[in-house]
Amino acid sequence: MTLTVAVDGPAASGKGTISKAVAAHFGFAHLDTGLLYRAVGAQMLLGKDPLIVAQTLQAEDIDPGALRNSEVAQAASKVAAIPEVRAALLDFQRAFARRAGGAVLDGRDIGTVICPEADVKLYVTASDEVRAERRFLELANKGQDVTRDGVLDDLRARDKRDSERASAPLKPAEDATIIDTSDLSIDDAVARVVSQIEMAQSD
Ligand code: C5P
Repeated sequence: MTLTVAVDGPAASGKGTISKAVAAHFGFAHLDTGLLYRAVGAQMLLGKDPLIVAQTLQAEDIDPGALRNSEVAQAASKVAAIPEVRAALLDFQRAFARRAGGAVLDGRDIGTVICPEADVKLYVTASDEVRAERRFLELANKGQDVTRDGVLDDLRARDKRDSERASAPLKPAEDATIIDTSDLSIDDAVARVVSQIEMAQSD
């Protein structure tokens, strides 16, 4: 059985948490595609050519712990606007989506570009303020030196770049279900997605 779940949405919308929980519920594999762009962005900050990094990236080289900070996030969003970088990361993501046993991929263009044929497509969003507060708490709890206003500005700058780029911009697929997590608990959001996937499985 191959069942593909595409989850898109802006930064800190809850899409990663929901994707992880849903994948665990069904025993599907989960790919946080933002980590691919973060890995390329982090290497660009070290002076490497982003295209060469993207073309030679190995999943084993990705260390999530080192990539979850604002500087790397902004760098990721810059390299993500380069069409050749996106093209270099395409095959890996598509192969992951087709793996036996089911797959959940979260990102910005999964339902629109990577897996337009996905069985279930979601677009997870929340207000800017709710998203900034979540990201602020996440980074502050890790001991990073951040302010609420700084995090809000960073998120808005990144969302703007991600939505306005010419290549695979952030937007909901036409047939995506929109889930606004501003006033929805993660448990409730996960329960909604689980029932949607169960319906897709019985089709
Ligand atoms: O999801 P995350 O915040 O880790 O993504 C980091 C950046 O990677 C995003 O701001 C976006 O520019 C880029 N990205 C993308 N397409 C994806 C996933 C992430 O362009 N599918």
